[in-house]
Amino acid sequence: MLKRRTTGSVVCPSCGSLVGVRDRSCYTCGRANPGLWGFGPALRQFAGDFAFAPLVLGACVVVWLTTLLMSGSAIGRGGLFSMLQPSTDVMIVFGASGSFPVFRLGRWWTVLTAGWLHAGLLHIGMNMYWLWQMGPAISELFGPARTMIIYILGGVAGFTVSSLAGAYLPDLPFLQAGQLTLGASAPLFGLIGALYHYGRVGSSAARHVATSVMIQAVIFGLLVPRIDNYAHLGGFAGGYLTSAFLDPLTRERGDHMIVAAVLVAATVAAFIVSIVTGISLMR
Ligand SMILES: [Zn+2]
Repeated sequence: MLKRRTTGSVVCPSCGSLVGVRDRSCYTCGRANPGLWGFGPALRQFAGDFAFAPLVLGACVVVWLTTLLMSGSAIGRGGLFSMLQPSTDVMIVFGASGSFPVFRLGRWWTVLTAGWLHAGLLHIGMNMYWLWQMGPAISELFGPARTMIIYILGGVAGFTVSSLAGAYLPDLPFLQAGQLTLGASAPLFGLIGALYHYGRVGSSAARHVATSVMIQAVIFGLLVPRIDNYAHLGGFAGGYLTSAFLDPLTRERGDHMIVAAVLVAATVAAFIVSIVTGISLMR
């Protein structure tokens, strides 16, 4: 658990210089309370231990199994796309996003929850395979905390764009916006956007990988029905901009861990609000 340190020196979460754990401010960058009340070292340890891809995969599988259990006899069975699909009601209760929940029901926080929900075995299988392909490498390039920030904000951007498009844009060819949208591909496109940004400022190898993943994803998105290309577009833009803001060529700092923890807590809070208000919606 989080152990508190009261003596010696720690690393400043803002600039990385050594500071006394009880110092009021950092001599190098001026940050107040650089020792985080003595919890800085424990936080660093925790950040170093957490692995991005297994955490996201585990959370997605647990959420999917829970939505399946809640669906009871309404689980989808027919066809490749609806095999083991939770019922639409349950997906809305748990926080599916899109123009219907966001604009008709006022459930704006679903932009945080939808990326952790999946509509069937094939859907979650494809996304988790993709996560497993890209997650570990991106986590190594950006650091696990910054990867989590990019992942969550990429998802928020993707589902915001998709919901806006569903509400205000008429259906364009190939870009059909759904009333209801969910799945990890929006935040995964955030990772692709970040990798593409990294490729522009850092390594050309990363750019090649990002470009080839992007081309595959775009072809896939245009060929396979029911793919939410607006969410992919928004996710990519969100990931690109977040990466530009975080500057992946600098080292990951303790502050990134705090931001990542706040975003994860906001996501958990959004799930609680979704389920509590969603259940009364269904009555
Ligand atoms: Zn400092």
